[in-house]
Amino acid sequence: MSLLRVSLLCRAGLSRPVLSVLSHKSYSTNNEPVGFIGLGNMGAPMANNLLQKGHKLVVYDIAEAAVSQAVSAGAVKATSPAEVAKQANTIVTMLPAGSHVLECYKGENGIFSTVSRGALLIDSSTIDRGTVSQVFSSAQERGVTYLDAPVSGGVGAATKGVLTFMVGGDKESCDQATSLLECMGRTVVHCGDSGTGQVAKICNNMLLAIEMIGTSEALQLGINLGMDPKRLTDIINVASGRSWSSEVYNPCPGVMENVPSSNNYQGGFGTTLMLKDLGLAMDAAASSQSTALLGSMATQVYRMMSQHGYADKDFSSVFKFIEKEK
Ligand code: NAD
Repeated sequence: MSLLRVSLLCRAGLSRPVLSVLSHKSYSTNNEPVGFIGLGNMGAPMANNLLQKGHKLVVYDIAEAAVSQAVSAGAVKATSPAEVAKQANTIVTMLPAGSHVLECYKGENGIFSTVSRGALLIDSSTIDRGTVSQVFSSAQERGVTYLDAPVSGGVGAATKGVLTFMVGGDKESCDQATSLLECMGRTVVHCGDSGTGQVAKICNNMLLAIEMIGTSEALQLGINLGMDPKRLTDIINVASGRSWSSEVYNPCPGVMENVPSSNNYQGGFGTTLMLKDLGLAMDAAASSQSTALLGSMATQVYRMMSQHGYADKDFSSVFKFIEKEK
């Protein structure tokens, strides 16, 4: 996607209502560089949106190609997280999992080796609460603010700058981070103390997984009983079975345009990532002795899918996985 298009989408995003009613005092003014670490599927468009909103960016990723792309869009290259932290007092990280976050923050050339007192560190990766606690404690020891701020919305939402940020940490720091987060998202929600952003994220995604499987089962049942899936979807969407999966992200090919199901389940939110989030939810359910029967079944379904050729497909491909053989 061209920078111009990203820019136009960002401007469109600006005109949308922002649900959070938070202070607009910014941690980072446009003159101070912001650090961004982890320029993958999500991080690259998020960083692009910061650049488009006039922020100077210092970037790092272990993948050279990702860094080069950001540099060609106007960012400055750093050679380690430590170097990012030397140049920027506000840093956003967007990494795959807890181990990468630990390495990036607490590793030999990690952020904590050079970070200045008073800095603001915002981790938008989806990770386990144990890692959040470790990073939070280290941040407190150094007089640094650390917020867990995982996102809802996939690559499309990251590109359009309409992500939802679920923020864990003290309210005042969340308020101060809001104007920066609003350059990348439409909604910023303060969830509570450190770690609660991750709690909100895994609860939401566990529900999403269950809902997507349920919607797929209902549509497949209707098809097997001779009903047109588009018609059935229209009915569900004005009846009590309606959900995001039926209304916005329908899993049946041809029912909706511009969703992964109508593009051979390419793009979107991959089965592997959904399985990762379900794993986090199941670990959390076990440690809190919570009953999560359907969450556990959804985990098994997505595990089977990932072993049967669906790993790289969008998670709505569960519709195909359960399709009756013809
Ligand atoms: P990704 O794998 O595309 O990107 C991760 C990036 O981090 C890569 O560029 C990788 O090279 C880099 N990286 C890995 N280890 C590093 C290190 N030690 N130092 C610096 N860079 C490092 O992943 P993604 O899809 O962008 O997802 C990032 C996070 O966002 C994950 O936690 C994911 O669960 C979450 N998320 C993803 C989506 C989605 O639709 N993709 C949606 C919501 C949330």
